[in-house]
Amino acid sequence: MRSLSILRILLLFVGSLQTLAAQSVINGQTAVIAFSAIPQESRVTYGKKNIPLLQHPTIEDKRFILLPIAYRSTPGEKKLLVTYADGEKRLELHVEKGDYRSETITVAPSKVKPNKEQAKRTSMEYKEAMSIYHTLNPERYWDKPFIHPMSSKITSPFGTARVYNGSLKSFHSGTDFRAEVGTPVHAVNDGVVVLAKDRYYAGNSVVVDHGEGLYTCYYHLSEMSVKTGDRVSQNDRLGLSGSTGRVTGPHLHFAIMLYGVQVDPLQLLTQINSLFGKPEG
Ligand SMILES: [Zn+2]
Repeated sequence: MRSLSILRILLLFVGSLQTLAAQSVINGQTAVIAFSAIPQESRVTYGKKNIPLLQHPTIEDKRFILLPIAYRSTPGEKKLLVTYADGEKRLELHVEKGDYRSETITVAPSKVKPNKEQAKRTSMEYKEAMSIYHTLNPERYWDKPFIHPMSSKITSPFGTARVYNGSLKSFHSGTDFRAEVGTPVHAVNDGVVVLAKDRYYAGNSVVVDHGEGLYTCYYHLSEMSVKTGDRVSQNDRLGLSGSTGRVTGPHLHFAIMLYGVQVDPLQLLTQINSLFGKPEG
C-alpha cells in the first residue's frame, strides 16, 4: 500500500479570486481541507457536487470540508470551487491513481451470480442502503477523535481491485480485521444505529449514522447487540464478529460511506482525527 496521502491545507480568506497550488489526493481516499475565517454563506463545490462546510471540532472560527474521492475517479486535474459573497477561490486537485493491489477473478462472474430470488433480495438491500447513505443528517453526534472497531491485525486493506478478463469488476470496499467468531465489535464514535439486519452479502450488518453524511458499517457479525434507532456512544458494543453472509471465514469487514461515496475507512478516520491535533487515532 502506498502511504496515506495527507492533504491538509489552510485557506485564508484575505484576497479576492485566487487559484491555489495543486494538491494531490488518491482515488478512494478523503481530503481534509481546513478554512480559517471563511465568510458566512460560502459554498464549496466539486464538479457538480455541493460539499458541506463543517464546523471544526475544536476551533470555533475554523471550518473544514471532507472531500471523498471515489475509487473509480479518473486520475487527473480536478477543481474545487469556493464561492462567497464577493468572490471565489479555486483549488486545483490532482487525483492520483492509488497503488492498490489487484486480484484476478478466475470464475466467470455469471457463475457466481445469485439466483433470481437472491438477486431480487440483493437489489432491495442495495437500494435500502443507498437511500440511507445519501441521507444527509445535519446533526453531528461526535465530538472526540474516532477509534477503530477492534484492535486486531488487518487481513485485507481497502481498495484491492478484483479484475476479470482484464477489466475492473469490483474492489474491496472496506478494511478486514482478523477476528474469531465472538470478538466484540465497537462503535468507532457516537451515533445512531440506522440499520441492523441480516443481509445476503454482508450478513448481520450494523450501520451507524454519525451525522453530516458520515456512516460506519460493520459486517458479517455473528450477533447484533443493537437495533435500528438506538443511540450509541463510542466504544459501545454493536455486536460480535462472525462469518455471516457471503464470506469464506470469520472476520470483521469495516467500511465507511461519506456523502454516498465508499472511501478508505481508516484513512478517513486518521484525517478527521488530525483535526484534533493528534497524529493518529
Ligand atoms: Zn472485507
